[in-house]
Order: sequence, then C-alpha cells, then structure tokens
Amino acid sequence: MHEQTIAIHAGYEKDAQGTMAVPIYQSTAYEFRDTEHAANLFALKELGNIYTRLMNPTTDVFEKRFAALEGGVAAIGTASGMAAIFYAIVNVAEAGDNIIVAKQVYGGSTTLTGHTIKRFGIETRYFDVNNPSQIEALVDEKTKIILFESITNPSIDVADIEAITAIANKHNILTCVDNTVATSVLCKPFEYGVDLSVHSTSKYTTGQGLALGGMIVERHNLVEKIKGNTRYYHFNEPDESYHGLVYSDLLLPLFTLRVRLALLRDLGGAPSPFNSWLHIQGLETLPLRMKQHSASALKIAEFLESHPKVDKVNYPGLKSSPQYPLVQKYFKEGMASGLLSFEVGSKEEAQRIADATEIFSVVVNIGDSKSIITHPASTTHQQLSAEELRDAGVPGGLVRLSIGLEDTQDLIEDLKQALQ
Ligand code: PLP
Repeated sequence: MHEQTIAIHAGYEKDAQGTMAVPIYQSTAYEFRDTEHAANLFALKELGNIYTRLMNPTTDVFEKRFAALEGGVAAIGTASGMAAIFYAIVNVAEAGDNIIVAKQVYGGSTTLTGHTIKRFGIETRYFDVNNPSQIEALVDEKTKIILFESITNPSIDVADIEAITAIANKHNILTCVDNTVATSVLCKPFEYGVDLSVHSTSKYTTGQGLALGGMIVERHNLVEKIKGNTRYYHFNEPDESYHGLVYSDLLLPLFTLRVRLALLRDLGGAPSPFNSWLHIQGLETLPLRMKQHSASALKIAEFLESHPKVDKVNYPGLKSSPQYPLVQKYFKEGMASGLLSFEVGSKEEAQRIADATEIFSVVVNIGDSKSIITHPASTTHQQLSAEELRDAGVPGGLVRLSIGLEDTQDLIEDLKQALQ
C-alpha cells in the first residue's frame, strides 16, 4: 500500500455497523467474558482490552496506523510527546546509567535530560548533532540509549542518521530519533538503522493544534539487538513486577510492550481516546499537508534569504544550506518540513518583528495549519542558561517560524511589512 492509502485505512476494520469513521471508544474499562478470560488477559495468554490506562480500541487504531506510516512493527501512544520521550529513556535506563543526547534538541528535552532525569540518577552526555563522531568518546558499558532529532527544533539542523546509527550499532546501543518535525511522511528512520522513534503528535499529526499526544514506534526485529545483550538485562531477566515475564522470550514487539505493561501501568501517561480520535483525523491528511508545508516554507526561506535585514536563514531545504545534501539523502523528495528560523541583529529586534506580524500568531507550538512565530530565547528556551542556549543553537536574535497552510504570498507580505 502507498503512504496516502495507509494514512487513511491502516489499522481499522469496520465494526458490525459498518462505521466509516473510526469510533471513539470513550470508556475507562472493558467487561471480561468471565474471570478466566480476565485472568488470561492479565497473564498475556490472550490479548485484549483491560483498562484504558493500558490500551483503548480507538488508540489502538491510531497506534497501528502510525506504526505502519513510520515503517515500524508497533507503536504505543502516550499523553504527550514529553511522556513518550521520558518513557523511551526510562524503559532502558535507571540510576547509575547514562544516555547520550544531541545538544540540539527541543527545550523540554534539554531540561528533561539535563535536569529532571539527573534526579533519577541517570546521567546525560551530550554530543553535537553536526559532529556525530563525538559519540564514540562518550560511550561506556552503562550507556543505554542515544537520542537525537531528525530535524532539530528550533535550531533546524538535520541529523546524519546513518553516521549516528553506525557508531551505536558498533557498541550494540539502542538509538531513538525524535521524528516530530520531519514526520513519518518525510523521513523513515528505520530505513537508516534507527531502532526507535518518538513523536510529539501534538504537532503535524493533529495538524491543527487540537490535541496533545505522543508516540513511541519500534522497528521490526528489535529483539535481535536486545536478546542476550547485557546492556538491556531488564528485557532478558524475569520481570518481578510481572510474575517473572522475560520480554525477550516473547514473540511480540518487546520495547513497546514493556512501555505498556510496566510504564503505562505504573506511571499512567496514557492518551485520552478522544485525543487519539483527533490524531486519526490528522493522519488522514498528513501526507498532503507535509507537501504543502514544505513547499511554502521553501518559498518563504528564499524570500528571507534575500532580505537585507536578515543575517542568516536556517532552512535545510535551501540549496545554500550546508545540510541540503542530508535533506536529499534522508527526506522524501528533498522536502524539509515547515519549520525554519532566521537571525536578526538583536533580541529586541527579533521580539519587535514577532510582535509586528499580523497573520502569524505569537505562540509556542509548531505544526499547525495556522502560521506561528516564536522567539525561542524568551519563551520555549527561557529556562536554559546562556551556555545551554548557545549549545542548543538559540541566539537572542533567532526567530522561529512554523509555516502553516495559508496562502504563501500572504505570509511573505506579512513578513515583509513586519521586517520593515
Ligand atoms: N519533541 C519535539 C521536537 C517538540 O517540538 C516538542 C514540543 O514542542 C516535543 C517533543 C514535546 O511534545 P509535547 O508538547 O507533545 O509534550
């Protein structure tokens, strides 16, 4: 099946009513046939619905469709993108372990990895996404996962995915890419050796800024990398909290299953069925929208590049971008998504421009049909120190744009008048 067909049909078989739209199963729990059925479900002798913190039929369609679009074997939905990232980390790392993370990641991922998980005893070691060879010196026997973004937010760098996975595979370490900005449509990370992907589905998936959500996707045959790998002993030893279950002995996708059985059970960041339903509506048009977001962003980047007040434009789809070859290699038809940033002389000038736009909204979100302008240094990245800001590639004069689906020429005119 081609992508647009997967986006519309995968994961859903019509119920007895022949319902065309995926129904919203707005229910907390599910009746068992009898106590034996209940016991079998809890013991994984049969698979089925127990309780919405663990699974839900609407969310199940969303997960199956998302996994199919990304090219993975299974996916698990979470209440937000941050929950997905946190669960992907703590599914493998515990006190005394370390993780390796790109310096250039979303502000929430920087504070999560730099501060919050430190309090769980997990150390983060950072590398420059533009220099993956730095990873080698950071690896030791306690390294559990390497995390990076395929297109970074907000510095808009493009990861050389195969350079990262080559080092990780040499040491048998799992890699996890945050594919939020690129989306499953533009980038298929598993084709380049990545093991797991995470998404904030709050962005392009919902597409209209309607709902928070997150997703973890697992590649096919991940068990081959985990079975017998001493780094991942949790998967190879009996899980005391699940009456001795050994995940690597199961014929099921083991990473996402452990998130479901252990982390959603105990930490509880499950998606609401209604949000999953909204995300399903978003997926139906995702391939079409990503084409338009990318085409429009390219035209706007070209306009900004020619503007005398703009010092620098970060958009990897521009031929002049040093990362243009990476976009050609990793992204569908060289499309580079709808996120771009540009630099002007000062923090004050950046704020003035954001305030002067009329169609763009000053909002801290991306991936909406409505265009958004953000000044990261005073908002999403406000909690970062001067050093963290520099490492994340966020100078005071940086303005970030999330190009929506309005008429491109109208957006150019709006920026023209704001820049005056
Ligand atoms: N990852 C990236 C690349 C993001 O841009 C964001 C949010 O902006 C997140 C993760 C966090 O997602 P959420 O807001 O759904 O928790």
